[in-house]
Amino acid sequence: MGEFELINHYFAAAQCAQGGEGVALGIGDDCALLDLPPGEQLAVSTDTLVAGVHFPRVCDPGLLGQRSLAVAASDLAAMGATPIAFTLALTLPEVGEAWLRAFADGLDRMARRCRLGLIGGDTTRGPLSITVTVFGRVPAGQALRRSGARPGDLLCVGGELGNAAGALPLVLGEREAPNALAQPLLDHYWSPSPQFALGQLLRGRATAALDISDGLLADCGHIAKASGVALEVNLHQVPVSAALQGFVGPQAALQAAVAGGDDYVLAFTLPPGQLSSLQAQTPVHVIGRVLEGQGVSLRDRQGQDITPLQRGYQHFRETP
Ligand code: ADP
Ligand code: MG
Repeated sequence: MGEFELINHYFAAAQCAQGGEGVALGIGDDCALLDLPPGEQLAVSTDTLVAGVHFPRVCDPGLLGQRSLAVAASDLAAMGATPIAFTLALTLPEVGEAWLRAFADGLDRMARRCRLGLIGGDTTRGPLSITVTVFGRVPAGQALRRSGARPGDLLCVGGELGNAAGALPLVLGEREAPNALAQPLLDHYWSPSPQFALGQLLRGRATAALDISDGLLADCGHIAKASGVALEVNLHQVPVSAALQGFVGPQAALQAAVAGGDDYVLAFTLPPGQLSSLQAQTPVHVIGRVLEGQGVSLRDRQGQDITPLQRGYQHFRETP
């Protein structure tokens, strides 16, 4: 099967590639064309997943397809954007038809769930890697940035943390667990749910926001730096799931929740006066506060500073 047959058969024919709101021209020409309503800005983000780095070399291609799109789409949620479309740049070592069928189906499932149309891409040969670029729209000037947190704001998250990090030994086949514990954790890893509705509710309310991908403390560090403030996280307020606690125990669950990555849950800062109206519409967990100063500190129930030295995952970390 040649490049064009492959594109047509697996991608151009997918349900998610048949156009949709905002898509004026999809796959097949030199560029796709998007329509943007007056007064809105285009939000754009790219993520690359490399085999052996971001996912195991041997894994279920359907799950990989849905995860590849979800992790990229989560950036739209974090900006408060409404999803429009995405492109897929796929590098493949060989054309395995069963693999491609399952990958394209998983991708299509997540695309329809996220209301993202597939509008183009690139297909090349080489070691397996997947690059997804997502496009969304947001009313001009209302995107949620990392830079607006102010002392006195609350620090909040939109859901339980640590599930995907807790799932890693299961994903890698290093450990097993009863299905009742394993399944919810594996679902979090393979099928993150970008928090679009929450992101859109936060427009005009939150002062800063992002999606947690590198770990809570590391990502809070990005808000602290961009906003020129300090963030304080209360460990006992960080929400963790029953499945994670059951699998690794309560202490390790909190460790995974603050330092593990791949959550794709929103973290945001909120003036206290905004909390009750937001909580009336969606679950919000207050986990700390914004102070004058810099950096991120972690506190125990007694208010003792228990900030760990190592935070989050970085690809190009300086040697210690
Ligand atoms: P060009 O040579 O002009 O860059 P290509 O031959 O790479 O175009 O691709 C032909 C069409 O197929 C383009 O519209 C491109 O966006 C689309 N396309 C290529 N690969 C993919 C893919 N993996 N998924 C979706 N669309 C793709
Ligand atoms: Mg090309």
